[in-house]
Amino acid sequence: MNMLARVRPDLAGFQPYASARRSGLVGTIRLNANESPWSGDGCPTGFNRYPDPQPLALRSDLAALYGVAEDRLWTGRGSDEAIDLLLRGFCRAGRDNVVGLAPSFGMYRIGAQLQGAEYRTLALRAEADFALDPDRLLALADADTKLVILCSPNNPTGELHHDAIGHLAQALAGRALLVVDEAYIEFAGIPSTTALLDRYENLVVLRTLSKAHALAGARIGSLIAHADVARFIGSIAAPYPLPLPCVAAAVAALEPVALERTHARIATLVAERGQLADALARLPRVRRVWPSAANFVLARFDNGPAALERALAAGIVLRDVSAQPGLDDCLRITVGSPYENEALLEALA
Ligand SMILES: *Cc1c(COP(=O)(O)O)cnc(C)c1O
Repeated sequence: MNMLARVRPDLAGFQPYASARRSGLVGTIRLNANESPWSGDGCPTGFNRYPDPQPLALRSDLAALYGVAEDRLWTGRGSDEAIDLLLRGFCRAGRDNVVGLAPSFGMYRIGAQLQGAEYRTLALRAEADFALDPDRLLALADADTKLVILCSPNNPTGELHHDAIGHLAQALAGRALLVVDEAYIEFAGIPSTTALLDRYENLVVLRTLSKAHALAGARIGSLIAHADVARFIGSIAAPYPLPLPCVAAAVAALEPVALERTHARIATLVAERGQLADALARLPRVRRVWPSAANFVLARFDNGPAALERALAAGIVLRDVSAQPGLDDCLRITVGSPYENEALLEALA
């Protein structure tokens, strides 16, 4: 069954805003978008015009980067926007639900709440290293489940759940989208779930330039899915999600030379991750450091708030994740530069 059948029924046949750029009309004199005929003082040329809704160069660079056909990809303001649009496009407020993991990335719950969708979670146990039993996750899904969100590597815990994807996608076929958030996949050293897109119509993969590609400030994320789903998400998105300077920064970051440097930096961070985890584990006040496939590590301290304070006294900010179920006294620590990691270890020693 085509997954568009699971879109909110009141959005069936939704007519997107017919923006001037969407019309596709070309001419040398453009009087169809109420733009200024002049560039602003000190602005690069072209900034007086609305940007392309899906800039051709960026789209083809991203499709090449992720190894997918362009019609499977929609790019917007970070994967956060993709998560929001999936929730808004598929979930009926007050009726539908979304299934995810706990602990996991906080934006799923926020997005679901904003849309009035119930957010159901399967608790992963720290004692079991956050292992996932996919059948227990499936048991949370019912006829009103529209999305099952799997964050892998998971934030803030760092473990991979890719082994479960085939089984979950199969079991949810025709019923719900399986959304795999791969914000940190570049640090995991395993292939992306995009390789399975041909097999499962209900698979959605989220990728971002925010983490490994060092572009958190540009807000460029991608939703990769069946072409119908990608097109539908594009149709409900804001008409011009991508500002010109952000697109230019992203295109520059995807040049071959820049990509080589990105790969070298990923390798550095992966090596640093191992060293940081080992060194943290040797500290007397650290109870546990979990293995991580991402660019952060989760550590449990004897006294989480005290460790947070010690780091802060040295000017180092860590993420307190102790409010998440089962993560008492746990801090999430981003792997920084060698200098930054050294400074942290000194502060905590
Ligand atoms: C950081 C993060 C994102 C957000 O990515 P943007 O593309 O910057 O919006 C998405 N998912 C997870 C799990 C993250 O940790």
